Amino acid sequence: MNSYEPREESVAIIGAGLVGCLAALNFAKLGYYVTLFELRDDPRLRDTTDKNLRSINLAVSERGIKSLNYVDLEMSLRVLSKIVPMRARMVHDLEGNQKSIPYGLHGETINSIDRGFLNVELLNEIDMNNNIQILFGLKLVKLDFNKKNNDNPIVYFQSNKKKDDDISNPIQSYEFDFVVGADGAYSQTRFQLQKFIRMNFEQEYIDTAYIELVIPPGKKNSYQLDPQHLHIWPRENFMLMAMPNHDGSFTSTFFGPWDLLKNLNNDEKVLGFFQTNFPDSINLIGLQKLLYAFKYHPKGALVCTFCDPYNYKGKCIIIGDAAHSMVPFYGQGMNCGFEDVRVLTDLLKKHNFTTELAFQEYSETRNKDLIAIINLAKENYKEMSQRVNTQQFQIRKTIDNL
Ligand code: FAD
Repeated sequence: MNSYEPREESVAIIGAGLVGCLAALNFAKLGYYVTLFELRDDPRLRDTTDKNLRSINLAVSERGIKSLNYVDLEMSLRVLSKIVPMRARMVHDLEGNQKSIPYGLHGETINSIDRGFLNVELLNEIDMNNNIQILFGLKLVKLDFNKKNNDNPIVYFQSNKKKDDDISNPIQSYEFDFVVGADGAYSQTRFQLQKFIRMNFEQEYIDTAYIELVIPPGKKNSYQLDPQHLHIWPRENFMLMAMPNHDGSFTSTFFGPWDLLKNLNNDEKVLGFFQTNFPDSINLIGLQKLLYAFKYHPKGALVCTFCDPYNYKGKCIIIGDAAHSMVPFYGQGMNCGFEDVRVLTDLLKKHNFTTELAFQEYSETRNKDLIAIINLAKENYKEMSQRVNTQQFQIRKTIDNL
């Protein structure tokens, strides 16, 4: 691993999600002393019996892979060791027919990976790095800037084990040279930053909820569907999706309007709805598991956030979902967060590690790309739930005309 000389500067990274972990590995490689703070407990110590409840898998695209390779090629090969390449979409119609639509003419793929696995692999990489200290179970509650000491940020945390107002839950404070907020769509770092800069901020929920389902492996751990495909059951206002996992299963996601989900409030309605709209999926998922999921699995909201600028001088910057959460239909939220790390590092190198210049240029130049991708992600819901049907029809028509 090609590392830089130690820089004698300390950085706090808030949030050990996918983006925060990659940022920690990256800043350590650049020679900084990194402390990574995470609200939750170490996921590697968590009881995994309830794993199927939140088993999202993600599509890693060229954008994300390029950024992982940029940080460390060997690490990238290790953490991506269990990706399942998908070379096409498979569109399922009401009669159970399947139509493959390739992603490219030259075998281009996007890749499915288990989110939990990727996060754990990145944490394992962090454990191997002496320049990164990771503190779990600490929640960022406040951010301030020490004017006497060159505006150095002071970050305040409380334990996640007790209530914030419990007097036996004292606030702990730390001072760093700068802070990187990677604490997700509901970022506390962003909220705190808004007290110090004139940040434009917009948040938009779309009227779509999601529920995660699982298509288990078939006999002898074989796949029940073609694993080289991202499977879609597009039905205009709602849709079902499935992406392959390494173990022969698929993680499937149902997306639909909140009112529809509210109305599917008993087993008969769920069964009737699936028999009408996704008849071939019932046996794949298993009737009891399907009914259980609609009754007990959490229903997720989908939010887009836009903000600008992303930094306070050279002292604090937000990246990943903290800066630009987007709906998942373009499969680019994490990929874009990984790209943030690469783009920011290029600018740090360009400005000889003067954070003020690098963060400033990042805010000025990154914003329009991020807005574009958030809008593309929203637009792609129509593409996936509606237009793939038209595309399929057009392909049929073209073939019929040949
Ligand atoms: P998060 O993953 O949200 O991590 C933030 C971390 O910060 C968490 O660990 C949290 O506990 C911690 N934290 C929060 N507050 C505090 C605090 N106050 N103090 C300390 N720590 C804190 N993206 C893709 O690229 N491809 C896909 O296929 C894809 N599919 C998706 C499917 C669905 C259904 C959804 C909902 C999203 C999908 N995404 C996808 C988006 C992707 O999940 C996110 O963009 C990505 O997880 C963002 O990573 P992050 O590290 O920025 O934020």
